[in-house]
Amino acid sequence: MNGPYDLVLRSRRTVLDGVERPAAVAVRDGAVAAVAAHDAPLPAAEDRDLGALALLPGLVDTHVHVNEPGRTEWEGFATATRAAAAGGVTTLVDMPLNALPPTTNTEALEIKRAAARGRVYVDVGFWGGAVPGNLPDLRPLHDAGVYGFKCFASDSGVPEFPPLAPDQMAAAFAAAAAFGGLVVVHAEDPAALTDPAGGDYAAFLASRPPSAERAAVERVIRLAEETGARAHVLHLSAADCLAPLAAARARGVPVTAETCPHYLTLSAADVAAAPGPPTAFKCCPPIRDDANRDALWRGLADGVISCVVTDHSPCTPELKKGDFATAWGGVSSLQLGLAAVWTEARARGFGLPDVVRWMAAGPAALAGLAGKGAIRVGNDADLVAFDPDAVRVVDPAGLHHRNPVTAYEGRALTGAAVTTWLRGVPVGDAPRGVLLARNGAR
Ligand SMILES: [Zn+2]
Repeated sequence: MNGPYDLVLRSRRTVLDGVERPAAVAVRDGAVAAVAAHDAPLPAAEDRDLGALALLPGLVDTHVHVNEPGRTEWEGFATATRAAAAGGVTTLVDMPLNALPPTTNTEALEIKRAAARGRVYVDVGFWGGAVPGNLPDLRPLHDAGVYGFKCFASDSGVPEFPPLAPDQMAAAFAAAAAFGGLVVVHAEDPAALTDPAGGDYAAFLASRPPSAERAAVERVIRLAEETGARAHVLHLSAADCLAPLAAARARGVPVTAETCPHYLTLSAADVAAAPGPPTAFKCCPPIRDDANRDALWRGLADGVISCVVTDHSPCTPELKKGDFATAWGGVSSLQLGLAAVWTEARARGFGLPDVVRWMAAGPAALAGLAGKGAIRVGNDADLVAFDPDAVRVVDPAGLHHRNPVTAYEGRALTGAAVTTWLRGVPVGDAPRGVLLARNGAR
């Protein structure tokens, strides 16, 4: 007999409003319709007690490179979104580069949307890009629904997405400020970078020092302060940047920062011990030493870093080989980010509400994704039944992304998404995701 709800999920470890407590979550028409006591009578077509599993909101990953169209052999919408669902991610926001064309005008955005439509297993939104010469395109992209604009201070790795010179970046900030736009920045100062040589990780690390990040982050802070544009520092690696970010936030500068699972869970010492090629760990900025990693965790605890997102940036296995000068930079962890972060977070005394704050609520707030990132009445019923105790050794063969090369190969990770629901329906064989837009268009 059907009650008024389509689905009720009961968990003793439901993450709600920043705490973990027993609760029942009732779903109707794809949305959270009620949150009640764990044993509350809630008539429903399906009523599941999750036993020892935790119930989390679906994660929001605002830093994903899907690469379709144009470099679909690196990654595509179907494979990336399947990997996302398997990792407990129900919303991702696609970066404007590595697909062809890059998302630097509204025509390119439409090409992206056409490539994604009907192929996504979770919900997908899009960032736009700010590159030299496309200032007039920023407002139209904003109106078409991108969540903000990515730009680079240094070389992006692909020729069709050049970095902004300092005066160009200042102009992009001023343009975004005029319409309340968000600028998200790959912050490494090219003047402080040198060419890496060979296959030695220490040399690669030395070629991209913390001072490069610090100089660029200080410039982002200055531009946000001068223009009033909201700014966000992408994939923060160097803990040296935490002090200026904290100081800027304390004086009201609209600047936020994210870091990634690999900076929080791996360190330079892991590279030599890894079973695969060391270039599996190549990403920019680089994975640094243990003391730096400890400091990033303090930055999360203090709230200076508000988001943990993957920077999932795959390529073909061939392009990931070679030396540090030529190998593609990127660590792909859309499917593994939650388990990686939970493994380390739990060992450091953090709880599931912390992980949810960093990986769901924080990114949803960054992009302004209404109805996402929290279990709350009226929100989309994007939910994850999470086994916090499952231990799995990472086998690349078990990854859904197109090219299962991973820096996590052979590592034992704790925690697994057992079931992922998108708007109240388990993610399964049909691509039921929708394309999201900042202004609500779908
Ligand atoms: Zn990226």
